[in-house]
Amino acid sequence: MAAALDDVRNIGIIAHIDAGKTTTTERILFYTDATHRVGQVDEGTATTDFDPEEAERGITIYSAAVSCRWKETTINIIDTPGHVDFTAEVERSLRVLDGAVVIFSAVEGVEAQSETVWRQADKYKVPRICFINKLDRIGADFDRVMAQVADRLQCKPVAVTLPMGAGSPPDPNAFSGIIDLIAMKAHYFDPAKQGKEFKVEDVPAEFADRAAEARQLLLEAVCEIDDDAMEAYLESEDLPSDQVRTLLRKGTLEGAFHPVFSGSSLDYIGVQPLLDGVAAYLPSPLDRPPVEGTNPMSKKETGPVIRHTDPDEPVAGLVFKIVAEQHADLYFFRIYSGTLKSSSRLLNPRTGKKELVSQIWQVQASQRTKIDEAHAGNIVGLVGPKDAVTGDTLCDANKPVLLESIHFPQTVISMAVEPESSAERKKLNDVLARLAKQDPTFDSRVNEDTGQTIISGMGELHLEVIRNRLHNDFKLDVRVHKPRVSYRETIKSGAKLRGTGEFEKSQPGEGVSEQTVVELLLERRAGDQPLSAIDKSKDLSNEQSAT
Ligand code: GDP
Repeated sequence: MAAALDDVRNIGIIAHIDAGKTTTTERILFYTDATHRVGQVDEGTATTDFDPEEAERGITIYSAAVSCRWKETTINIIDTPGHVDFTAEVERSLRVLDGAVVIFSAVEGVEAQSETVWRQADKYKVPRICFINKLDRIGADFDRVMAQVADRLQCKPVAVTLPMGAGSPPDPNAFSGIIDLIAMKAHYFDPAKQGKEFKVEDVPAEFADRAAEARQLLLEAVCEIDDDAMEAYLESEDLPSDQVRTLLRKGTLEGAFHPVFSGSSLDYIGVQPLLDGVAAYLPSPLDRPPVEGTNPMSKKETGPVIRHTDPDEPVAGLVFKIVAEQHADLYFFRIYSGTLKSSSRLLNPRTGKKELVSQIWQVQASQRTKIDEAHAGNIVGLVGPKDAVTGDTLCDANKPVLLESIHFPQTVISMAVEPESSAERKKLNDVLARLAKQDPTFDSRVNEDTGQTIISGMGELHLEVIRNRLHNDFKLDVRVHKPRVSYRETIKSGAKLRGTGEFEKSQPGEGVSEQTVVELLLERRAGDQPLSAIDKSKDLSNEQSAT
């Protein structure tokens, strides 16, 4: 925890489902010695998927914050789900992150959910590096994905490593390793050592031209953000490696471009260079702008209250996730300023009450460490608060600040649930209220007319997960009615489809033609009224997809 803030990276790993987030996270935890064996998604042993529900499904549902150490750098990873039903989970993670690794499959390329998360990251101005994964698969094409990233995400990807080949043996051009375009060296990872050991050799002749071309593009990209470097480059047609790295960092932090790494997490290729990239190019908490809030105690003071990432300032932070533990809830907390000490009391400006922070935990992949204090810029788990909900600020009561809360969309799908026996109704309603406290995109209410318990969430999968949690964690079996989704179809002139039912108005001059968009009716919570009263509701069983 004493790590200098310069050496802290709070990152998210974001992608479309199946691009390889969980596998890459597992490799990262393995290489950083946070775990001693490599978890496998397909065997249900991945470390970040510690919810049995996730392991069973092989997808990452709830964000888990884990810390690990790579060389001099402490990396706090917030794993984020890629399924469209959990977009709000990604949103909350992005709010507290400083930088992100975006993973693409070298076969599928830019997919709908990669576009959505990319735009979410744009909204929060999160600096990003990219990882093109699955280069071992048949049909993998690095250049095609680079072009797609540039075109569909409207950004400038810059390759810093280049794959040698693509696909698997017996293909004679099978993916065999990567070329570091800064050092101009080839790296071959030893699969028998699970990639922990690798050989560094000269670039083989067959890849020399391609590597030289890619290096030139890299140098041109970094020179574009610095006139002196451009002059030096034009004179000597080269730049020293250190200068390239410094400019890559500067351009990434400014959002001018995105360094792109390549590999195959499954085959243990290219993940360590990606870790070097996290340390070299993604921001530390000190590189991010200070947070702004308001003074909740003063109606007169209208200007923003600024909090710097400084351990000596009054403490303030944001609760961004609550995980139900057997004995107590664990509140994941991003500290923006000051030093948080255990057994202290913090003000929750929303409720006006003080909350006790009895314990502070640093959460690693396979263990947790109780710590006495934690500093600005870090992410920790708290035990003790009772009334805080996701998005709440906790701060020094003598110097209060209310940070902007996390935005969560309204629920879009609902269904009535009934306990197997009516004696369990109260327990069911209590448990659902607890789950709603942990998950701001889930809601549960009792319809006064019918007495039915109605649950609502972000999609069918979301509600199924809730139902399975009732069964697994609380031994509550429920009968469910058919899910209802409220939607309307709209023809909008100039609306630009964003891939997940969200849409945005195009800007003048963008020239987007008329498109059909399915607009989710977000303004009304389905549980507010009898299901029969919902406009144009439809059984999901008849719908391919609501989005
Ligand atoms: P996530 O949904 O993004 O977390 O993706 P996972 O890490 O769960 O991976 C999805 C599937 O792709 C699993 O079956 C993985 O074994 C597989 N996978 C992940 N990375 C690679 C890779 O580099 N190459 C190949 N061939 N398969 C991979």
